[in-house]
Amino acid sequence: MGESEVFVIGAGIVGLLTALELTDRGVDVVVFEAATVASGASGGLGERGIRANGRHPLELPLMARAYARWADLGYRRTGQLHVTEREADMPALAEQARRQRQAGIASELLDVAGVHELEPEISAAVVGAVWCPQDGTADHTTTCHRVAGELRRRGVSIREHQPVRRMPAARRVIVTANGGAAALVGVETFEVFPQALVVDGPAVARHLIGHHHRRVILKTLAGGQTMLTGGWLGHAGTVIDDHVRANFEEAVALYPGLGDAEITAAAADRAEAVSADLLPIIDHDDRVAVATGWSGHGFALAPAVAELLAAWVTTGRWSPLLEPFRASRLRG
Ligand SMILES: Cc1cc2nc3c(=O)[nH]c(=O)nc-3n(C[C@H](O)[C@H](O)[C@H](O)COP(=O)(O)OP(=O)(O)OC[C@H]3O[C@@H](n4cnc5c(N)ncnc54)[C@H](O)[C@@H]3O)c2cc1C
Repeated sequence: MGESEVFVIGAGIVGLLTALELTDRGVDVVVFEAATVASGASGGLGERGIRANGRHPLELPLMARAYARWADLGYRRTGQLHVTEREADMPALAEQARRQRQAGIASELLDVAGVHELEPEISAAVVGAVWCPQDGTADHTTTCHRVAGELRRRGVSIREHQPVRRMPAARRVIVTANGGAAALVGVETFEVFPQALVVDGPAVARHLIGHHHRRVILKTLAGGQTMLTGGWLGHAGTVIDDHVRANFEEAVALYPGLGDAEITAAAADRAEAVSADLLPIIDHDDRVAVATGWSGHGFALAPAVAELLAAWVTTGRWSPLLEPFRASRLRG
């Protein structure tokens, strides 16, 4: 391994986009990947939500920045509704919309009529929502392979099947190994296996749908099937039948039209690193930066994080937008 280049460890969305941003800035970069491109959380069943709606306030500035990049990378801008079935939640949703607008993210509070106009098939129990028109979905696996293809065209070496076991002696190292970062740089994360289902039935949801109190997220895939997630977990890479059933029941409660739909795919085969406060860990020392601990919602943030990590390499400046995500916040 040479002394002059920048090494990126991990060829998921964060590592690939960071490498792309570095080559945009004329930096020589080599990517090391333990398995293959998009073999981790950035690949697999269905699509990923590209959303600001409902995010932690500290992540909103990153998401506001990421949208423009997503427009270039390619995503389906469906808009997202973050819905509730409880009148008592409406003040919290109004505050959410206000906070998101303040961060530069178009957001609007919808009343019952507004929701049902946008989502005619949704349960009559839904009383309101926050509407984020810039949100949408992306085919995550295809996005990663497209970025990897562009890197290779630019002459970047993506060294697959090359797990990095100790920190290499490059000028700078960017560790984007998700769960693998813990062993390399000592950050405290644990791994989970989020569950994703695909059901065949009527295409009931016209937008990306999140829920304030039910554990369900719905998206209608490009092919017309419905994908369900919502924080349900598998175990060691396989689904748990009770969680599959519960996730589906939550979806049917929200969209009764899915009642006769058939579950055609169920997966929990993609490990994701989770931090103690469910926020990412993005940090650096003189030579090494790390970005991990995405806690199930890192895909949409990746373009902004990649841009800021690349800027750190070329300017030595650490963006104030990354400051809240230092590992030290989790220590005593
Ligand atoms: C089912 C599911 C649904 C999700 N839904 C959403 C969503 O709707 N919206 C959203 O924003 N996010 C979502 N996420 C989270 C999102 O997919 C992840 O946060 C994101 O893909 C993480 O990207 P990454 O590049 O950091 O990690 P990964 O894609 O996991 O890439 C890390 C890579 O590093 C490699 N690696 C590990 N250790 C080493 C090593 N020692 N040496 C070399 N390589 C190594 C791995 O093989 C892997 O390929 C979801 C995740 C899952 C699993």
